[in-house]
Amino acid sequence: MWSSIRNKIVLFAIFPLTVIYSIIFAVHILETLRAAKVNVEEFMEQQAGHFSGLLNNQLQFIESIGETFTQSLAWEQTLADRKILISNTLHFDTSIHAILSGSPGKGVVYSLNKNHLTEQPWKNVQGKKIVTNQWGWSLPIDSPIDGQKVVVYKLHGLDNLYFTVAVKTLLDVLNKENPRNLRFEIVNRDSTFIYSDMRSTRPDKSLLNTAERIGSASLLELVNGPIKNGMRGIGTVYFRDWPTWYFASPVPQAGWMLLTHTRETYALADARQSAIFSGLFLLLALLVITACVLKVSGLITNPLVRLTQAVDKLGDGHWFLDYRHRSNDETGRLARSINAMAARLSERDEALKEMRASNISHIAENLRGRYFYYMLDERGQLIYISPSVSDILGYSSESLLESAGHSFLRSSQFRRFYRSVRGVLRGQTKNETLQLELPHQSGTTRTLELINVPIVELNGSISGVEGMGHDVTELVSDSRKFRGLLEAAPDAIIITDKSLTILMVNERAESLFITDRSDLVGKPLAILGRNQNKPLFPQRITPDEVTSRQLSFESLCSKSDGKLFPVEMATSPLVTETETLITIVIRDISDRKRAERDLRHARDLARVGDKTKTQFLSNMSHELRTPLNGILGHVQLMLRENGLSDDQRISLETIGDCGEHLLMLINDVLDLTRIESTRPTVQLASINLRTTLDKVCRILSPRAQRKGLDIQLNVDDHLPEYVLTDVTKLRQVLINLLGNGIKFTDKGHIQLKVVKDNDRIVYIVSDTGIGIAVEDQESIFSPFQQARADSTRGGTGLGLTICQRLVTAMGGGLKVASSPGCGSRFYFSLPLRKSEAQSEAANELLTDSSCQVRLEPGKQIRILVVDDSFNNRRLLVRLLDDAGFETLEAVNGEDALQSIKSRQPELVLMDIHMPVLTGVDALRQLQHDGNPVPVIALASSLTTESDQQYQELGFSGYISKPFKLDCLLNEIGRVLNIEYVRTGDDHA
Ligand code: ADP
Repeated sequence: MWSSIRNKIVLFAIFPLTVIYSIIFAVHILETLRAAKVNVEEFMEQQAGHFSGLLNNQLQFIESIGETFTQSLAWEQTLADRKILISNTLHFDTSIHAILSGSPGKGVVYSLNKNHLTEQPWKNVQGKKIVTNQWGWSLPIDSPIDGQKVVVYKLHGLDNLYFTVAVKTLLDVLNKENPRNLRFEIVNRDSTFIYSDMRSTRPDKSLLNTAERIGSASLLELVNGPIKNGMRGIGTVYFRDWPTWYFASPVPQAGWMLLTHTRETYALADARQSAIFSGLFLLLALLVITACVLKVSGLITNPLVRLTQAVDKLGDGHWFLDYRHRSNDETGRLARSINAMAARLSERDEALKEMRASNISHIAENLRGRYFYYMLDERGQLIYISPSVSDILGYSSESLLESAGHSFLRSSQFRRFYRSVRGVLRGQTKNETLQLELPHQSGTTRTLELINVPIVELNGSISGVEGMGHDVTELVSDSRKFRGLLEAAPDAIIITDKSLTILMVNERAESLFITDRSDLVGKPLAILGRNQNKPLFPQRITPDEVTSRQLSFESLCSKSDGKLFPVEMATSPLVTETETLITIVIRDISDRKRAERDLRHARDLARVGDKTKTQFLSNMSHELRTPLNGILGHVQLMLRENGLSDDQRISLETIGDCGEHLLMLINDVLDLTRIESTRPTVQLASINLRTTLDKVCRILSPRAQRKGLDIQLNVDDHLPEYVLTDVTKLRQVLINLLGNGIKFTDKGHIQLKVVKDNDRIVYIVSDTGIGIAVEDQESIFSPFQQARADSTRGGTGLGLTICQRLVTAMGGGLKVASSPGCGSRFYFSLPLRKSEAQSEAANELLTDSSCQVRLEPGKQIRILVVDDSFNNRRLLVRLLDDAGFETLEAVNGEDALQSIKSRQPELVLMDIHMPVLTGVDALRQLQHDGNPVPVIALASSLTTESDQQYQELGFSGYISKPFKLDCLLNEIGRVLNIEYVRTGDDHA
């Protein structure tokens, strides 16, 4: 708002000036009025004194005439002389109204009437008013002659001679010298009016009455003060709100007081008038100053404003300043400087234009290939076209210029061109691009892109059109090819810009979304996902990702009829010369989804079947193992008996072998079932590698020895002593492979070689056996598959399958290298994980020894055997009795709890599956009662329980049925921490 100089002048000069001036002006007026009031008051007071003096002199004069008159009368006693004297006296003083002579009640009044002394009888003079013996001035009375108010002066010593003086004539004397029109009242010292000409006091007999009537304290003060005391005094009295100044001055000659009064407004009229005049003058001065300042500011700013406007025009490219400021002051000099600058700029602009024109013509002349330049005059006539046009259209530039009506210019395409030129010439369009198909001299057609721009002169007028032509024939043909490709694509393809607005779609997209392309182009891509709440692109995909890399995801789209269908979308950025577009390939995957759904359903069904199968096998395992337990247990018992014949022993051993074989079969089937139904988990533990491998070999060496084979163990020295591995699985695999080696080798040896290969351990089990034909080497890893060469050696064909799965679970792969007759080599590698400590996992008493062991003689240990199966119970009791233990029996958990309470055994062997109270529940009850007796679990199912699980439940040990006697004694020995004594070799 205050951006103009003029406004600033108003704000910072005129406004403060006016304010200061007004304050000074007001102070001045008030001060003038105050001083004037004081002056006028003083002056008036003087005037009042002057007037009372005048009145006093008049009275004194009359009295002195009286003195003279008295003396004259004493000498001249004749009437005629008396008349002359009276006549002279009356002539002498106009204020003397009449002279009264004679005795009271019948005297004569002499009065001068038109220079003629008349005599009238004294009629109305009341004796009361003119006291016979009192001389001096009386109170006013009515004149007997003309009814005027008169005061009577009784001469001293002459009782019958009086002067009557008309009161008014006394005032006339004062009014002769009263230019200010002061008003007068004469009062007695007791404030009785001698004279009053005021309407406000006239009804009253005395001023005191007036003061009391109007309630003026100031007047009362005047009456009771100066008037009463015969002294000078001043008072301001308000008559009907009009302030009136009263000046009281004594008239000593008559003992009266002259009251001179005037209204304050009259008194101060002059002062006020002069104050108003000076105020008006000051106001006028202020207006003149303001006008001058505005004028001066205008003189400064107006040229500046016009200069600014002119310079603004300069900025728009009008290189002449249309403002002439002839003044010689700063603004004039500024205007001239800007003019000079504009002139220089104009020259430079011209030079630049010329340079540009020469550059353009140079460029135009040298344009080659697909571009040409042209110019048209203001009528649209071609005046220049660059020679490069001949490369594009075949016609030379000269021929085009000469024959402006050349054939191609008559084509309908040219009319479009000319329409565009007209638009540019009229200033309707600034730069219009149009695509035209123009004939080549050879008869073919070329597609040209032309852009027309106006040639604008300095004054803003358009003097012609210049333009550029671009041969886009090949580009157009490329885009046609691209279009063809797009349309031929088997998938729906949509091209969008960065903001995902659809630019292009192919035919497949139209049919997929059952819509016309015109309904899709220009719309946001999200239109394809309408009728659903989810966005088309997954939320994890950011807009930046869409424009920067290829993406593929599944989504839901809807057809124009609102039907939703699943799609696979693949987006990829398409970088063009001008912008980045996005190509989106959309494939309907309804069929695939349906197939997946069916597959999932089938898989779920299979899982359910699998579970049923596993459960069945688990139950079967229990059912098969229970009788096997009895068979194998009793065989072992019988073998321990002395006095068996060799045939009996062989038969028993055969029964034992068959039982073992059956057990192995069951175990293998169950192992595979378990591996297939649950992914085997790896449980790493630290082991001493050499000791573990040694033990494995020792387990199998009796079997090898029986066949006269040698088992060799060869461990790489570079391997660490302790490693982390799943020892159970490793042992199972190695036992299986070594067992196969023994089984399929008749002479020679079986070797377990373990070597270090970088960060892996390679296990190689080789033999010198029958070998495996190449065609069988793959199938032997499938379940129930055996090599055709020799299938007479027993086995289930599951061992290698289980090994393969276990090795895979541990992070390796089992492979075979073999040729028939030359032995086989099975090998696998596992990650090498070094370890420091050794766990006790592998610390088992692994023995295949058939030595008889028993409790140290003299030791008494009571064991409670709990099993619902009579056979199992009997078997266990016999085995334990034989080994030197004292045994107790219980048929279920509840029975066991009572036995434990009453007989307090040192150890309990507890079957798990029992009626009334299961083994697990019985253990819980014991734990609840705080009974610390150790309990070993006897379980006949392998599928769901494991050693570790039983430990977690609180069992002190675990034995799988059917068990080997050694294993049973080992576990009891471990739990009770007891040693056995060997009683001799097996009978085998
Ligand atoms: P099983 O030994 O119980 O038949 P496996 O899965 O362990 O089942 O072995 C499958 C088959 O592979 C065997 O039947 C045998 O034909 C062949 N085979 C396995 N190991 C050897 C070996 N060391 N030498 C020769 N053939 C073998």
